[in-house]
Amino acid sequence: MARIGFIGLGNMGGGMAANLAKAGHDVRAFDLSAEALDRARAAGCLPVESAAAAAAGAEAVITMLPAGKHVEQVYEDSVFGAADTGAILLDCSTIDVDTARRVADAAMAKGLVAVDAPVSGGIAAAAGGTLTFMVGGSEAAFARAEPILSHMGKAVIHAGGNGAGQAAKICNNMLLGATMVATCEALLLAKKLNLDPQTFYDIASVSSGSCWSLNSYAPLPGVGPQTPADNGYQGGFAAGLMLKDLRLAMEAAASADANTPMGARAAELYTRFTEAGNAGVDFSGIIRMLDEKA
Ligand code: NAD
Repeated sequence: MARIGFIGLGNMGGGMAANLAKAGHDVRAFDLSAEALDRARAAGCLPVESAAAAAAGAEAVITMLPAGKHVEQVYEDSVFGAADTGAILLDCSTIDVDTARRVADAAMAKGLVAVDAPVSGGIAAAAGGTLTFMVGGSEAAFARAEPILSHMGKAVIHAGGNGAGQAAKICNNMLLGATMVATCEALLLAKKLNLDPQTFYDIASVSSGSCWSLNSYAPLPGVGPQTPADNGYQGGFAAGLMLKDLRLAMEAAASADANTPMGARAAELYTRFTEAGNAGVDFSGIIRMLDEKA
């Protein structure tokens, strides 16, 4: 089993590091938060005093941090100077494609191997070891990353070269944001047309309108399977995180000169929704705002 440095033990990283320890790895864990370090110790990791200490002597260094600036800072200030030559850096945070490519180039210039490996799946999937990883990096780097990531996920997919994992993540979540808004609109319109929403669900979920936002995550209570809508829009995937991903998608679209009108509209709507105090509400809760607007 490998020695693994793990930096960023928050909602996601805490569960992921615990799964690596459970699989028998020697996990050296670091976070700025003392509570997060205590939880990591209880989960079988060895808390260390700095990000550099987590990286030193590790075969693999995993980061699960809020945004690109945190990843770049931790790499530049701590990891690059401490990691052994040939160590693999796996950044599982959701960050912008440009930063992902820049830090991978910088890592390679230092004799390290780097992949971006963002995840699909929330806190429950992180704790349960059922995340999906989308990996950007060389074939050889993917071959080294895959066995480590598979302790934390149900699927590990090679997306392409460095940055391709982040590209897959933000394109997926832009699609999710747009289809959630469209699903909300369709259910609200069905209701206004005196069509029972469950009957609409039964029809559309096996017709050409079917999509994950409807079939698996219907945003109305009592319609389709159990979802956060049945729990007052608590739990699930926070609207603030959806907005973060939509903004990353819009930045990437601007930098790549891509036309994304539906993504842009979804970003506007989620901005309004979160600015109204709903950043912590499940992203399907936007149906309430769309209903009010009518
Ligand atoms: P979080 O805020 O709960 O955790 C981030 C952790 O990083 C915190 O514990 C913080 O103390 C730590 N941290 C920040 N700067 C640090 C530094 N310099 N050194 C060490 N530790 C530092 O966030 P999260 O929900 O765990 O999300 C982490 C990443 O995963 C984000 O990029 C997010 O977009 C992505 N993500 C989250 C979810 C989700 O449902 N929460 C789902 C998919 C992807």
